[in-house]
Amino acid sequence: GRKFIVGGNWKMNGTKAQICEILDFLKKGPLNSDTEVVVGAPTIYLQFTQENKPNNVAVAAQNCYKVPKGAFTGEISPAMLKDIGIEWVILGHSERRHIFCESDELIADKVKHALENGLKVIACVGETLDEREAGKTEEVVFRQTQAIKDKITDWNNVVIAYEPVWAIGTGKTATPEQAQEVHQSLRCWFESNVGPDIANCIRIQYGGSVTEKNCKELAGQPDIDGFLVGGASLKPEFVQIVNARG
Ligand code: 13P
Repeated sequence: GRKFIVGGNWKMNGTKAQICEILDFLKKGPLNSDTEVVVGAPTIYLQFTQENKPNNVAVAAQNCYKVPKGAFTGEISPAMLKDIGIEWVILGHSERRHIFCESDELIADKVKHALENGLKVIACVGETLDEREAGKTEEVVFRQTQAIKDKITDWNNVVIAYEPVWAIGTGKTATPEQAQEVHQSLRCWFESNVGPDIANCIRIQYGGSVTEKNCKELAGQPDIDGFLVGGASLKPEFVQIVNARG
């Protein structure tokens, strides 16, 4: 079976004091030991989070660049993340794609470079409302995934996060059926384009307005293997979301 994996994406939120409060409720838990838990901290707080987190929680960066070092003002590299003990990076988040205009190709280059440097990657895909209404959901998520496939061969350290853009931060969660439909399509895409073993073991998280109220039903869907949680990951209800399965 695929190990359930729940990520908290703090985005550009938190102070040291607030991060201490979040780490306190994570320490108190209890967190289901069958679930892998990762929190995505702002760059400036990565080391602080890494040094103060409980053992059963891993830390992710929310972005990184595609080369090891050099004249790239404002950027950080996977090598730097590894240097301070960070194990994960979230790449291709819809806010990176849409606010910061990251292309499919740039994201794929980042995924490749992060994997080559020993990071585990949460790679995000998802359609906008216009794309969904135009019937292009599959086309978009397949295109975004194909761009990554063009650059990597080993998917073992990749988790896919399906985050419909219209569900992010809007309170409009995809229904369990809507999410399951896309997760299943993505798994079929992996079966046809990468292979049955990877299709069977790759974990696909759902993200977009996940709360303690809707997480159980979503977690009951066969192709939903976890969540990537924004707003609710800053609050104690994140513990209930981590424990949505079982
Ligand atoms: P919300 O849970 O706030 O909708 O954000 C989802 C998300 O973007 C996680 O990466």
